[in-house]
Amino acid sequence: MDFQLELSDEQRALQATVREFAEGEIAPHAAEWDRSATCPTPTIRKLGELGIMGLPFPEQYGGLGAGTLAFAVAIEELARVDSSVAITVAASVSLGGTPILSFGTEEQKQRWLVPLARGDTLGAFASTEPGMGSDVQGAQTTARPDGEGWLLNGTKAYITNAGTELSAFVTTTALTGQRPDGRPELSTFIVPVDAPGFAPQRPYHKMGWHASDTRELAYQDCRVHSDALLGERGAGARVFLATLDGGRIGVAAMGVGLAQGCLDHAVSWANQRCAFGQPIARYQAVSFELADLKTRIQAARALVYRAAALKDAGRGVTEEAAQAKLFSSELAVHAANVAMQVHGGFGYIEESPIPRFYRDAKILTIGEGTSEILKLVIARTMGLTV
Ligand SMILES: Cc1cc2nc3c(=O)[nH]c(=O)nc-3n(C[C@H](O)[C@H](O)[C@H](O)COP(=O)(O)OP(=O)(O)OC[C@H]3O[C@@H](n4cnc5c(N)ncnc54)[C@H](O)[C@@H]3O)c2cc1C
Repeated sequence: MDFQLELSDEQRALQATVREFAEGEIAPHAAEWDRSATCPTPTIRKLGELGIMGLPFPEQYGGLGAGTLAFAVAIEELARVDSSVAITVAASVSLGGTPILSFGTEEQKQRWLVPLARGDTLGAFASTEPGMGSDVQGAQTTARPDGEGWLLNGTKAYITNAGTELSAFVTTTALTGQRPDGRPELSTFIVPVDAPGFAPQRPYHKMGWHASDTRELAYQDCRVHSDALLGERGAGARVFLATLDGGRIGVAAMGVGLAQGCLDHAVSWANQRCAFGQPIARYQAVSFELADLKTRIQAARALVYRAAALKDAGRGVTEEAAQAKLFSSELAVHAANVAMQVHGGFGYIEESPIPRFYRDAKILTIGEGTSEILKLVIARTMGLTV
């Protein structure tokens, strides 16, 4: 049995490279990007030069062919210092690129995946609407055949990566009809950001992930060519679910990285901050909490690596990805809380990175499947009728 105890030499080298980049080129600016809500596209381009924006994709499509585990390792290192950069990368790769790799035609891969993998463009995936998130079958956005292509009408909500200067396309789930059994027929379309009738709205004012671009998107008689259809007509739910399986591994890796960042800051603070004549690390109330946190992070990392390694082995990972995301996202919220508590008053001041970690953690339990939906997914794999 291979428990993936050790990363390979290549994966370790990648980890070291991304850590050095994150500490040198991201950490010093993360607070300012957060304050000014700036998505750092020049940094994304540099990550592209390092190969990170195409890490899991085959070399023939501009990627490094390094696989999902390597991708998870890289995302963890980015989230250890800045969740906004981590989600920008994770969303572009998992939500933007992966469905095109899995379901696209050769022409679609050359047109959309290759520049994305090189970090020249960012991709987005739009499923959520103002009236629907968890229940994709409730999509109201429509697409109907019109002449040479399709006309899309509707609104998508809370979409990542759709409005930056690098944003190139938004893969969009839309209702194309009704199945014989009465269920909605969903299909997926690659909508170029310059498609007529496509209008990204102003960015949201969010609790966290300030430097990640999130917008509502309007489609008003938005015209796309027939080659915009991704996969077959009616394959929308399948594309959506497959995309989320991979995406959840990325979000789970973000949870591990954020928790590790919180632990690293808390350990350093506990060793230097003195109270009652000695470093607070000497108090077991503090050191036991941090020992417990380290243990839980190792457990979360094991879940993430396992899901990623299984995906790389070509196995279905619906259950494993859901478990990894459920555990590590809830852990991230806990870790941020612990780090703030250990920092005392300084942990509440924006001069320290802890408030940013605290604000960035919560969304991990919501995006790409809320904790409740993940429990539903896991319960179904157990044969429970939910
Ligand atoms: C910053 C940010 C970025 C995002 N990026 C994207 C993106 O790029 N693309 C995209 O498509 N979406 C994106 N989203 C949307 C996100 O995926 C949804 O918010 C999420 O899936 C939850 O959907 P909802 O908000 O409609 O909540 P709802 O589905 O309305 O759920 C509300 C509550 O009800 C619970 N609930 C719902 N159904 C059940 C059930 N059957 N059993 C038990 N509990 C249930 C949920 O767990 C939750 O607690 C983003 C959101 C945010 C905030």
